[in-house]
Amino acid sequence: MPQDTEIKNTESQVDKLADASGQGASVETKFETKVDATGEVIGQKLSAYLAPTMKESPAEAEIVSHKLMIRAGLIRKLAAGIYSYLPMGLRSLRKVERIIRTEMNRFNAREVLLPSVQPAELWKESGRFDKYGPELLRFKDRHDRDCVYGPTHEEVITDLIRREVRSFRDLPLNLYQIQTKFRDEIRPRFGLMRGREFIMKDAYSFDADDQGADLSYRAMYQAYVNIFTNCGLRFAVVEADSGPIGGSFSHEFMVLADSGEDALAFCDQCSYASNLEKAKTGDYLIYDAPEAPLEKAHTPGCKHVPRLAAYMKTPESSIIKSMLFEVEGGQPVLVLIPGHREINLIKLKNALDGASPSLASPEEAERLTGVPMGFVTPVGAKVKILADLAIGRMANGVVGAGEADYHFKNAKPGRDFKVDQYWDLNVATQGDPCPHCGAQLTLKRGIEVGHVFKLGTKYSQSMGAKFMNRDGNEAPIIMGCYGIGLGRTVASSVEQSHDSDGIIWPMALAPFQVALLPLQVQNEKVFQAALSLYQELTDLGVETLLDDRDERPGLKFKDADLLGLPLRVTVSEKGLANQQIELKQRKNREVTMLPLENAAKAIKQWRDQALKAFLS
Ligand code: ATP
Ligand code: MG
Repeated sequence: MPQDTEIKNTESQVDKLADASGQGASVETKFETKVDATGEVIGQKLSAYLAPTMKESPAEAEIVSHKLMIRAGLIRKLAAGIYSYLPMGLRSLRKVERIIRTEMNRFNAREVLLPSVQPAELWKESGRFDKYGPELLRFKDRHDRDCVYGPTHEEVITDLIRREVRSFRDLPLNLYQIQTKFRDEIRPRFGLMRGREFIMKDAYSFDADDQGADLSYRAMYQAYVNIFTNCGLRFAVVEADSGPIGGSFSHEFMVLADSGEDALAFCDQCSYASNLEKAKTGDYLIYDAPEAPLEKAHTPGCKHVPRLAAYMKTPESSIIKSMLFEVEGGQPVLVLIPGHREINLIKLKNALDGASPSLASPEEAERLTGVPMGFVTPVGAKVKILADLAIGRMANGVVGAGEADYHFKNAKPGRDFKVDQYWDLNVATQGDPCPHCGAQLTLKRGIEVGHVFKLGTKYSQSMGAKFMNRDGNEAPIIMGCYGIGLGRTVASSVEQSHDSDGIIWPMALAPFQVALLPLQVQNEKVFQAALSLYQELTDLGVETLLDDRDERPGLKFKDADLLGLPLRVTVSEKGLANQQIELKQRKNREVTMLPLENAAKAIKQWRDQALKAFLS
């Protein structure tokens, strides 16, 4: 039995090593790391861990989550937008991962693992090699072949599927992976929030028809609702811009936080919720002034809306801003919008069938129109004119007269100038009417943690991923894609839940569930009581971090608050004198004294309750 002999040999070698180190039989007990049946660490002594805490936050950390994640020793920066996870940070990441896996598996997505390094040929096939821009990391291998480091995996998965799927019988199919992406973001910042290297769960669905694709989309939507609920996050689902096709083909899952990069519009009354990039409004301007004939007015030096409005004694909303935009690969357009509103560039891009617009500089605008900035006019203009919907409701606007220091009064679209296309072009603002029910819109900020998107046949067309349908005809597969940023989800939790002392973890994402603090480790009674509680807790499956360091109680408390584990259990000389231990909830700082006897079971109940509070 050669195998047995091998094992014996190994054992005796370990013994020899132990003897040599003078530790004898205490090798195992020295580390005291407890693992559960699956090999996961369930109990950890802090003295033997890598969890360096810091008093000060690094200068470059702008938002709370970034500061706290560094200070609590969860992550460390390697280079701009590139971070290492230390053990504690990795534990939270793994929790998000597990929650995601559970729901993805439940909703019939199958896990795969695709390569990060991808041949550029695939990106040339899809047409994205040139389009993607500098965020795409491109490099050559030793044979001078173009490669990219995957910022996303539509190309790779479509390549896989076009080889494996033949008939409608192979569909529907949903594949997901949890894997590292690289995007050379122009402004990596906020730690894990906007990294260059980051971990994403990306899923791709494949369906034979639109109905099936809708079902796949709805399944992922529900899975995402469950995932973010189970993570213990406060989030909202908003409609997202889906490019020129329009329609509700895309939703974003937003963790609500003031520091969020995205602005969101919510209706106070109905369920309307949208990314501001897409948010529509009801009729935000109603004009009821009577019509009057067009009249030229002298407006010396009135280049800007506020000055013009004051000079003309008229509200800014009755002024028509005429702005010249250059269009990628096309003719310039003149865009009209009420004086007090901003143009939403994403909406404008959609109005231009996806061509990117850029505002012409004053010099360029003057060169193209022959009119100085501030006086450009749509009256008699030769360029295409695009106007916001509100312009169509105006009966007597103030508009440039096409010569320096003059405007027209009482301008009416259709009568005094042509409009080639009306489109919803404005940026929604606080208090605008909801497009569905007319109640007021409220603006909030959020962090995009997840994104579901109906792709249609964009990639299956360009890359030839076809299948044989029931009628025996070839058709392109209909796809959807679904992403979640794992690091960003962890960071969002910290961003949403903290106080001046540190992180406040939801039970579901906390690196450990209980911080166990023996206050006087030199006191044998205190330390032994803490150690047996540690054994009992971990035997019961409660993830416990034992702060066995010989440090002052004040420092232990500070570190515990900073790390923010949901339950803090203190074992002290004073408490033990009354056969008690102290339990403190990080969230509300409530203190409960528990009898030492059966303390582990009681703590487990607290843990279970907190876990249940989030479960969907
Ligand atoms: P953003 O608008 O924030 O750049 P995106 O629209 O580019 O996001 P997707 O391509 O839909 O993002 O990626 C799916 C998910 O991956 C996002 O919802 C987000 O959680 C995460 N993610 C995207 N970019 C980053 C990044 N630079 N750092 C960390 N996570 C990211
Ligand atoms: Mg992006």
